[in-house]
Amino acid sequence: MTIRIPQDVLWILNKLNQAGHEAYVVGGCVRDSLMGREPNDWDITTDAEPLQVKGLFRRTIDTGLQHGTVTVMNHGVGYEVTTYRLDGEYDDHRRPDSVTFSKNLADDLMRRDFTINAMAYHPEKGLVDLYGGTEDLEEKRIRAVGDPDARFNEDALRILRAVRFAAQLGFQIEPETREAIRKHVKELSFVSIERIETELTKLICSPHPEEMEELCQLGITSVILPEFDRMMETPQNTPYHYTDVGHHTIAVMQHVSPTKVMRYAALLHDVAKPDCRFTDEQGVDHFYGHPVKGEPMARSVMKRLRLDNKTIDEASLLVRWHDFGLKGDLTEKTFRKGVSKMGLEHFPAYLEIRRADMDGQSDYHKEEKEEGFRRILEMYEKLLEEKPALTIKDLAVNGKDLMEIGIPAGPKLGGTLKALLDLVLEDPARNTREELLREAGQMEIS
Ligand code: ATP
Ligand code: MG
Repeated sequence: MTIRIPQDVLWILNKLNQAGHEAYVVGGCVRDSLMGREPNDWDITTDAEPLQVKGLFRRTIDTGLQHGTVTVMNHGVGYEVTTYRLDGEYDDHRRPDSVTFSKNLADDLMRRDFTINAMAYHPEKGLVDLYGGTEDLEEKRIRAVGDPDARFNEDALRILRAVRFAAQLGFQIEPETREAIRKHVKELSFVSIERIETELTKLICSPHPEEMEELCQLGITSVILPEFDRMMETPQNTPYHYTDVGHHTIAVMQHVSPTKVMRYAALLHDVAKPDCRFTDEQGVDHFYGHPVKGEPMARSVMKRLRLDNKTIDEASLLVRWHDFGLKGDLTEKTFRKGVSKMGLEHFPAYLEIRRADMDGQSDYHKEEKEEGFRRILEMYEKLLEEKPALTIKDLAVNGKDLMEIGIPAGPKLGGTLKALLDLVLEDPARNTREELLREAGQMEIS
């Protein structure tokens, strides 16, 4: 079997080989190539020591010299070249206390997390697979290298990586590896939140967000996302749903596009349902107010995970608005007001989550729900065509016009503009200069 290695990577391998060193591509790029996937990045493993690597290449970055990693720049792209390495003891369940460089490729493969990530490849010598990585790829298995119990005890981040790879590749975690994960799951609390966020986000944005259930079953969410466990424990005894909040949430995640905003919005859209659940005398559950209550909850979960502010703002806005237009009595006026508050630019994302939310529900009153959704789409199209004023910027007057008729700059001016927007949202036909100046002149705003 041959792996097509990009020219720039071959050039690095050759240069190391010609200087008398061993050098292989290793890890994720070998795995992805064998699976016919495009590798994210090409990593190189070598018996050359970091200073020797630095000596061979003109442009290098000291990425982690003490761990053996030098980044070699080639045509503006960085390639990590890491010296064969044996990890010392792990005292903190995350990083080895010390690493020793080795002259033996087998040592380096042994320290890697999973068999499918522990293969190396050389353009002439071919594949080095010492732990059954190819077989596990065929069987679609995530299996720890060596003794799973020891491997998760060393580094708890591997716990989350196992499920992340299962989700990205559509694989199953092998039973012994699973058992070891269960045993060490509490040690995830030793892992930095940044690393947790990276792995969790990859899982959430993967082709298999349903692996969230695996996170819960293995006890992982109990450490990093207890809010999700509560969703899994919250039944929905209502004909509108066929499953609990957690499984519904997973279905919605599967139905939205795999972007950070959409997937986190889907994950958290019903985060307040466990708190809002109210069972009436007939035994039917209601979840009044959960979108409004859910917004700050979603925000705080995403803040805790240290997601970027843009993702936090957009996803929590979608949590707040995901049920908009659900009631059958939506009029054009309430629609305009809603879109004005939500922000027209967020409407396509709202439509996406609204649609996915419906697709993750039971067929009860399906026709009515579809009709409601069609109505929202119609109103949206009409609005795009007619372009009624939705923000203060769209008004036929601006702050300067109001100052000219004697309204002082400051809160009064802002308040007047807001009041004029309310008028125009009520009746778009009133958005003319004369009308608004006349109204503004009569307004009592303190
Ligand atoms: P991706 O496609 O996400 O880049 P990857 O397998 O390349 O996947 P990286 O995080 O880039 O993952 O790591 C590169 C390689 O380093 C892995 O394939 C694995 O061999 C090794 N590795 C990474 N993290 C660990 C870890 N925590 N424990 C052991 N080995 C690891
Ligand atoms: Mg990688």
